[in-house]
Amino acid sequence: MNREELWQAILGELELELSRTNFKTWFKNTSMKVWDEGAGRAVIAVPNTFTKAWFEGKYLPAIKTALTRVTERTPIDVSIEIGRGESAARVDGPVRVATTSRVPLSEPPGVSVDAAKPSRRDSADGINYSYTFENFVVGKANELAKAAALAVTDKPGVAYNPLFIYGGSGLGKTHLLQAIGNKIYETTKRRALYVTCDRFTSDFIKAISQGRAQVFKDSYRTVDVLLIDDIQFLSGKEGTQEEFFHTFNALHQTQKQIVISSDRPPKAIPALENRLTTRFEWGMIVDISAPDLETRVAILKAKCLSKGITLSDEILHYIAANVQSNVRELEGALNRLVAVHQLNQTVPTLESAKAIFVAGNVRPRKGALTPRQILDTVSQYFDVEVVQLTGASRKKELVVPRQITMFLMREEIRCSYPSIGQELGGRDHTTAMHAYTKIFEERKSNNRLEQDIELIRERLYNSH
Ligand code: ADP
Ligand code: MG
Repeated sequence: MNREELWQAILGELELELSRTNFKTWFKNTSMKVWDEGAGRAVIAVPNTFTKAWFEGKYLPAIKTALTRVTERTPIDVSIEIGRGESAARVDGPVRVATTSRVPLSEPPGVSVDAAKPSRRDSADGINYSYTFENFVVGKANELAKAAALAVTDKPGVAYNPLFIYGGSGLGKTHLLQAIGNKIYETTKRRALYVTCDRFTSDFIKAISQGRAQVFKDSYRTVDVLLIDDIQFLSGKEGTQEEFFHTFNALHQTQKQIVISSDRPPKAIPALENRLTTRFEWGMIVDISAPDLETRVAILKAKCLSKGITLSDEILHYIAANVQSNVRELEGALNRLVAVHQLNQTVPTLESAKAIFVAGNVRPRKGALTPRQILDTVSQYFDVEVVQLTGASRKKELVVPRQITMFLMREEIRCSYPSIGQELGGRDHTTAMHAYTKIFEERKSNNRLEQDIELIRERLYNSH
């Protein structure tokens, strides 16, 4: 990767984090003047002193993080200089590079869907127009979440308030929140504000320290729709919880829509005030679990289409079969494959796809955990039969191992509650939910249980 490509890849990362306007304003006419791989030293060239000061005050950490992510190299010394390098940034072009790809994609043949869309955002509302309902692929694992999200755009503040979406990393929560923001803007021109919980927290702390608490309150309490991402990070932050509680009430009372995402259900968020947990449960709670094989293939097809590339079904199947855990990794694997072939100007075959997987980090997950392996491992650990675990007996020496099995199916491989119920001999999904919450809570205070879980985990991951 040469310097220009590297800078483009970094811009791709940064674009995901900044508002469109900020990004365009500040990154126009920037370039990477020096990149010393050995020393991990970079010099970024910007057009004037004003931009230099702004970059130093605001963007250095983000640039460092992006650089680390793209080059997998730390620590990094980054400095800003005035002047133009030989390659100015193409901030108007589609510089987006998937976060997981190590090699920047050159422009794929054909016009990408993202690139064809004009940018229409002029406020820092945090909305990225490339996440829409149209490009969200639906399968069993996410259909309820998508339907609920759509219902919210139809009647904001009325249908379900709040809408609480939870699920593991990379399964499309942020995508759905953003899609809601985009759809609402399209249909009603109403103002949706997207914010991560971390951003809310740091904004709040900054506002307090600068004596601007009222400005902060007003800015959050006057939106039509608040989309708040990764709310689990509110855990343990008492001051921010208090503030969010009041924001929530102000919005809810005036029938403004609130949409919340989290990596776990409200009750399972540790150190969260009870009054917040209760409120999160007022509206509708939906979960997203890992997509099945069919959906993974469909997602890959959709991504190919939007990139203007064609891959054989055989290759798509191979990728989908080997990247099971989440959609972000799935996209990363696809990007990697495409990147390698674009660099080498070759056409992907099943063989070359396999070679890339074996050579890269994305190894075929032959040993990916299955529900059955969890059942087997837990039964061996507690020295009981699998049929006893899946059976009906409610003897104490079976109930706990059974609950641990359900907990691990959820925690380790993100099975949906209904499918966990199925695996455990056709139990109801509420039983699986109950087991998960119970173990989740109890292990905090029960060392023995915590230890059991750790030992089982070790066996699970060391046995293959
Ligand atoms: P989360 O917020 O749950 O961690 P994201 O919403 O960031 O996950 O999704 C990760 C990536 O996968 C994003 O690029 C997103 O567009 C993509 N993605 C996730 N689910 C789908 C889906 N059902 N259809 C298309 N793309 C998806
Ligand atoms: Mg997210």
